[in-house]
Amino acid sequence: MTPLEDAQAFVLESCPPREPVTMPREQAGGLVLADVVVSTEIVPPFNNTAVDGYAVRSVDVATVPVELTVVGEIAAGAAPDGNVGPGETIRIMTGAPMPPGADAVVMVEYSERLGEDDAGNERVRLSESVAAGTAVRGAGDDVVVGEELFFEGTQITPAIEGVLASINAQEVRVYPRLKVAVLSTGDELITDGSPLAPGQIRESNKIMLAGMLAEAGCQVVDLGVVRDDEVELERVLRDAAVECDAIVSSGGVSMGDYDVVKAVLGRIADMTWMQMAIKPAKPFAFGKLDGVPVFGLPGNPVSSMVSFELMARPALRRMMGHTQLARTSVVAIVDHDLRRNADGKLHFMRVNGGFAEDGRYHVAPVNAQGSHQLAATASADAMAVVPDGDGINAGSEVAVLLLQS
Ligand code: AMP
Ligand code: MG
Repeated sequence: MTPLEDAQAFVLESCPPREPVTMPREQAGGLVLADVVVSTEIVPPFNNTAVDGYAVRSVDVATVPVELTVVGEIAAGAAPDGNVGPGETIRIMTGAPMPPGADAVVMVEYSERLGEDDAGNERVRLSESVAAGTAVRGAGDDVVVGEELFFEGTQITPAIEGVLASINAQEVRVYPRLKVAVLSTGDELITDGSPLAPGQIRESNKIMLAGMLAEAGCQVVDLGVVRDDEVELERVLRDAAVECDAIVSSGGVSMGDYDVVKAVLGRIADMTWMQMAIKPAKPFAFGKLDGVPVFGLPGNPVSSMVSFELMARPALRRMMGHTQLARTSVVAIVDHDLRRNADGKLHFMRVNGGFAEDGRYHVAPVNAQGSHQLAATASADAMAVVPDGDGINAGSEVAVLLLQS
């Protein structure tokens, strides 16, 4: 059996990051930057008010209450119009540019409109004394020109997309989104919702894997269910290798007579067939078909999921420029015994966990651990990494991978 680390190292080595591309910012959400982003604009672009209120000379409000003459009004989006002189103020709305002469803003909550005086001037009483700079957002106090904002390897989050828009970065250099083909194989699988004929089961892996690929940021190309037929499978795989950047298949990689994936890929691709020292997901195949990485996952649904998590997902992430490839790992306290047999394998037991009052992460196994029992696994939010031996007793520590991280 191949140790998991050796299998992972081999696969990752064969899946280097793709060649970066330059693309419009709007298309780059979720992708990984291939270059540092340097700002060519300042943010905010001008001094502006952080509140609705009155732009003042701070010296005029040193003693309050004080009455001032309102000489204008500036809304957000308007250019400053007029100057604030001694004894004067301008009514101003959040985001509007500061008028010349003013150096602070008194919030509207501390104002009282007095109407017009005898000369027809609008008057306001202000009851808050503010220091110079109060409630003023300075030009460039978020971003300055030439600032290095985000570095290579950073995933473009929605907040980063917002920043890129704010600095008018029209294009970004990123690792391209992967187009990944997914298929399942097996004469027993049906997808059309019709009553099950004897021996048939409903297809579940391809649906699951398509979702996992999408969650990993890939563009999914659904190749459907392929019969256990070598000619058909060869045609589908060859087409996929032309159209896609990677191929994920489930089923047919173990020792059965009808394991056609093994037969076909063994003939047309450069494959390595592994028996990994893990449970579930012992059989696993990886190789290249016309240079395109092919992940041959086992058909048992839980094995399919676990080998996607441990083998395919990290490799696909690497191809998309990520540097953090694995799920977040934490040390957890085991609340119920994690029992297993010694078999020379690392066991990935599906567990549910959460932080408890002691500040520690606690886990308990889901109620079924069979490699066909996807329902139980689907209710898990983590996998405990249980080393070879007879398991881990309640109260002890175990490393877990957080599946939603
Ligand atoms: P295989 O790896 O093809 O020998 O399949 C192992 C087990 O997983 C068998 O019980 C299959 O029926 C089942 N299986 C294979 N592919 C799927 C699938 N796409 N959806 C659900 N079960 C599957
Ligand atoms: Mg099969």
